[in-house]
Amino acid sequence: MSVELSIVVPIYDEQESVPELYRRLSEMLAKTVASYEIVMVDDGSHDRTWELIRGLAARDARVKGLSFSRNFGHQMAFTAGLDHVDGDAVVIMDADLQDPPELIPELVARWREGYDVVYAVRAKRHGETAFKLLTAAAFYRTLRAITNVDIPIDTGDFRLMSRQAVAAFRRFSEHHRFTRGMVSWLGFRQIGVPYVRAARHAGETKYPLKKMLRLASDGITSFSYLPLQLASWVGLAVAGLAGLALVGTVAAKVAGSGLPWMWVAIAGLGVLGGAQLIALGLLGEYVGRVFDDVRGRPLYLVQETVGFGPERRSASGVTV
Ligand code: UDP
Ligand code: MG
Repeated sequence: MSVELSIVVPIYDEQESVPELYRRLSEMLAKTVASYEIVMVDDGSHDRTWELIRGLAARDARVKGLSFSRNFGHQMAFTAGLDHVDGDAVVIMDADLQDPPELIPELVARWREGYDVVYAVRAKRHGETAFKLLTAAAFYRTLRAITNVDIPIDTGDFRLMSRQAVAAFRRFSEHHRFTRGMVSWLGFRQIGVPYVRAARHAGETKYPLKKMLRLASDGITSFSYLPLQLASWVGLAVAGLAGLALVGTVAAKVAGSGLPWMWVAIAGLGVLGGAQLIALGLLGEYVGRVFDDVRGRPLYLVQETVGFGPERRSASGVTV
């Protein structure tokens, strides 16, 4: 049965936030739309998250839950949620209440005006480290500069998508996902709405540096070939320098004082070797992703569902 608005929330070890998330979401949604569903995707949590989701689903038919067979990551949890929603519009948001449910009426208002994608732009961020603020600001600006997809700056995944945009999104098959970029790539009518990003409701970030770097490189490799092309430019520059050093060495030899120029030539070769290895590494980033996509493994595996009705109850072990 279709509903007016679906909410998709990826959740990984957020037992302290789930009850408050449900409370604030329900309060906002009841005031905003005629009917809704909340699809909670448990991304392989080790705490009581899934138990809490099951409890909510048992009490409230509007709550539905999916539980992954293991941790597949925030971006894949969005994908699974979007595969399972039924709304005329869908809001995707984090579970830690950094994306305030109170912004949803504004997102819905813009959708009712005719927009297909309404993304929330972080005008201010509370409770983040200086390191995170700085790296995020630099990343969004670099990404924008090197891609030809119009990815708005300071914009996370918190956004509303129309049914049409969700249907288009479901056609993506790539394994390494950068949702905010993919949704920009879709086109349709898109608009941003500014908001103040709150601090985490409880607990610690589930995005350690390693996951953050992986997301950043997924974003860059998904939407830009510049790192690959960079190798040619660096190669040209280094080859030019090496040539110069070689000429210098020969000239110095002829003049009878070989030593300093020889060191320059050796250093030049070192730089060349380093540049080659970096270029190979960059190539590897792309080749690895090609390999993952060609192999065509399932994007995620669902081990259990609640609240979806009989047809989805036995979704174990398959991509549904
Ligand atoms: N999350 C997830 N899987 C993961 C990591 C995070 O589903 O492997 C969820 C997490 O529970 C939260 C959202 O993704 O709802 C964003 O994560 P987090 O708040 O830790 O990231 P940050 O806001 O610190 O960048
Ligand atoms: Mg967060």
